[in-house]
This record gives sequence, structure tokens and C-alpha cells, in this order.
Amino acid sequence: MRVTVVGCAGSFPGPDSPASCYLLEAEGFRLVIDLGNGALGGLQRFAGLFSIDAICLSHLHADHCVDLGAYWVVRQYTSDGPRPPIPVHGPRGTAERVAGFGGENTASVRARFTFRDLQPATTEIGPFRVTADHVNHPVETFGFRVEHAGWRLAYSGDTGESDALVRLAEGADLLLCEASFLDGPDIRPNLHLTARQAAEHAARAGVGQLVLTHLVPWNDQDRTLAEASQAYRGGLSLAASGLVLGPGAAPAAGR
Ligand SMILES: [Zn+2]
Ligand SMILES: [Zn+2]
Repeated sequence: MRVTVVGCAGSFPGPDSPASCYLLEAEGFRLVIDLGNGALGGLQRFAGLFSIDAICLSHLHADHCVDLGAYWVVRQYTSDGPRPPIPVHGPRGTAERVAGFGGENTASVRARFTFRDLQPATTEIGPFRVTADHVNHPVETFGFRVEHAGWRLAYSGDTGESDALVRLAEGADLLLCEASFLDGPDIRPNLHLTARQAAEHAARAGVGQLVLTHLVPWNDQDRTLAEASQAYRGGLSLAASGLVLGPGAAPAAGR
């Protein structure tokens, strides 16, 4: 499995990264997890527009799904005719949400994508074994565990503190975990993780490597890394657009 961080900016795009988007490749199959603001542009640096085989959306906040509306335009209006639908695994209501972005009707969106409602379960998507479970965010949100050829990736989606995230990440080789907040007195619960909480989840799950993501552009990212390092002693780094991870890839440097 090859994991490319396309976008890792949290809640809105930043100057150096689109919002959330990760490209997973194995055996010639390309799975995109999340398509936040600006991600479709960044994705084209790493994959052809029509080379995507399936998409998973963690939840329907715009910074994780809004560019699926842009991708519908691509698949609908390409010069050689509309492209056949590809599967989109997302929360209930994904088709309606995507239709709303472009003022389209749901039927036209369903003509380009085959929507599959996510549930807490394990399913095969191409060569990947994908386990989804609910995490702790104000709207229905899934975290994922993705396995291929014995290598295990976990992705938090957006979440506050979550035992489900620890289960998804149990023994994973890599945890891509959101770290939206810095330590402080006014941390809102059940919304996002601080960098320290992300590290605590990684330590509880015993992951091999922690890469912090969903990095909010106005945060001091050196502080994000420093706060996480108090609670997790394994390989620790910050995500960046263009970072490639996976078996055989060099461990991400500690920024
Ligand atoms: Zn988000
Ligand atoms: Zn969110």
C-alpha cells in the first residue's frame, strides 16, 4: 500500500495544503479517502482524473467532501462523454449533500457515482480490507482501518476522544490522526482532538507510527508536534501535502 497525503489542512484549506484528502494505492487500484476543499486540484499531482476507482468519505463536513461536487463536474462534462459511476462509500445522505453543492438533482449525481452507505463494519474495496466505525464528532463520522498485504493504516476522520478510534488503530503500522487543537483551558469536548490527545490514542493503540493531520493553518505546528511528543514515544511527525507513506516508504521525518 502506498499512502499519499494530498491534503492535510484542518477545517479549511491552508496556503500549503488542501483540506483533507488521502490517496491509497495497491495493485493498481486507487482509493481516495475524503475530498475536502481544494483536494481535487492537489489530487491531480498524484493521480489522473479518471484513474480513481473508489472514494470513501469520513463525514459530510465541507472540508472532507466538498470537492466531490467538483469531481462530479469532471465525470459529467468530460469532452468524450459522461464517465461510468464509481463507488462512493459515505454516511447516509451523501448523494443529497453532493447534489446541493452544485444545485443538481440527486438523480444526476447518482448517475456518476454509486453511493454506498457506510456502517460500522468491514468490507472489501478493491484490494483493501476497510473497517469503518463511528467516531466522536457532531455529525455522523467514521474512522477507518485499511489493511492490505499485512500492512495496516488507521485514519481518525474528525473526532473528539474515542475508544472506537483506539480499536480501529489497534496495532496499526500507521495512524493518521487529527490534531486540530492545542492544549488550553477551553477545549470543546466531542469535536476534535488536541495533539496530546491524538498521541494518547496512538499510545493506547500501540501503533508503529503516528502522523498528525487535519492541521489547522492558524495553529503553531511546532507546538502541535511538541505537545504530541509528551504522550507518544514512537515515530511521530506532521502530515504535509505530498508526503508518501506506507511499507517501504521512509518513515516520515519529525519535521
Ligand atoms: Zn474536518
Ligand atoms: Zn468535521
